[in-house]
Order: sequence, then structure tokens, then C-alpha cells
Amino acid sequence: MTRTIGLIGGMSWESSAEYYRLLNEEARRRLGGHHCARSVLLTVDFAEIEAMQRGGEWERAGLLLAESARSLQRAGADMVLLCTNTMHQVADRIEAAIDVPFVHLVDATARRVAAAGHTTVGLLATRFTMEMDFYRSRMRRHGVEIMVPDEPDRTLVHDVIYQELTRNRIESSSRAAYRRVIAELAGRGAQAVILGCTEITLLVGPEDSPIPVFDSTRIHVETAVDLASHAMPR
Ligand code: GLU
Repeated sequence: MTRTIGLIGGMSWESSAEYYRLLNEEARRRLGGHHCARSVLLTVDFAEIEAMQRGGEWERAGLLLAESARSLQRAGADMVLLCTNTMHQVADRIEAAIDVPFVHLVDATARRVAAAGHTTVGLLATRFTMEMDFYRSRMRRHGVEIMVPDEPDRTLVHDVIYQELTRNRIESSSRAAYRRVIAELAGRGAQAVILGCTEITLLVGPEDSPIPVFDSTRIHVETAVDLASHAMPR
């Protein structure tokens, strides 16, 4: 694989570690031998980003992440991945800051969901991703409607991400709670569920769901490896 994959990580590092592992496993699976994925990882301090999210300082976060993307490009990245769903709120700003392709996590996930024939899917994610418009409207472009848990389950899903998963804590009681929330989404008519936060894959997987699971972290990685393996438009 001759293309270099650039990753803006640290949101949180727990999911960045998963990206790094999956990226290299996927390259090895496809190419065998001692192959791994050429990559550059720039880790931001999640404490800074999390404070900006809480303060609604999306503009400032966008500037910081756009600068991170430029740094990756200078470091030789042939494409840039933003390793978080939530911060795709400022994806346009990042995309505009670089000349190499930006691998959009929401588009990659939506394409997979649509290709499987699903039109109404449940979403587990941070409160920002579940409640702000950026995710829902981007999914609609691909013909996919998003269904989110009711309150108080949105709070539960959000709190597990910020209190546990982004602090390197995996709790079986939270796994059971997520299972229940997924089952309820299925009961309301969700045809599948999107793990729309890059840490959720650390907690639950297909075995925890009665409906198909679309893991945004794995889909993002596979999309990047596809792109790295083929000629890319500049
Ligand atoms: N990694 C998470 C996501 O995919 C949440 C942490 C963050 O806010 O970036 O949304």
C-alpha cells in the first residue's frame, strides 16, 4: 500500500488506538506478509475538544482541527480521516483546508447502510450527533432516515460515552443498558443500528443486537484502506 492515511485522533485516544489496530489488521488481511498501512496519526488533546463541545465553541474547534488536517498533509498524508463522528459537525471546514481527499465518516457509513437496503436506522452516538442536524441531514442525502432513542436513553447513551468509554472504562452494566436501547429501537421499527460514535465498538457489537449493526469505526477504516489501495483523485 503506497498511499499514506492521515488520522486526526485523540477524540478519544481509546478509539484512535482501535483505528490504528483495525487499519493495520485490514492492510495485513488484504496484502498478507509483513504488510501494514502507511499512516500518520496526529493526536489532539481531547480535554480541549471536549471543553469546546460543552461550550458550543464549534468554530474554534473547527479551526483547530483544520490546522491539524493541514499538518497531516504537510507530513505526507494522501488523505485525512477525522476519527470521531461528533466533530464531523465541522467537517466542511476541515475539507476546505486541505488539498488531499477528506474521508467523510458519515458518508462512508451512509453508503454502507444504503447499499444494504436499509432506509430507517437507529443511531447510538453522543448527544451532539443524535440531536444536532449535521448527521441526520448528511444521512438523508443518501436516502437514510435516522431514528434516535427517546429521553432519558439519549442521556444514558451520551453519559456512557463521556463518563466511561472515553475514560478507558468498559462496564458490563452499560453493555446491558445499550442492548436494551438497541432492542427498543428495533421494536420501534429500526431496520439496523449505527454505532455512530467511534468508542461504542469497544462496548457492543453484532452479538448485542437483534438487528444488523453498522460500526462507524470499522467502516471508516475499511473505506480508507479501499482508497489507499486504489488510485485516488487529487
Ligand atoms: N468519538 C466520539 C464520536 O465518534 C465521541 C467523542 C467526541 O466527541 O469526539 O463521536
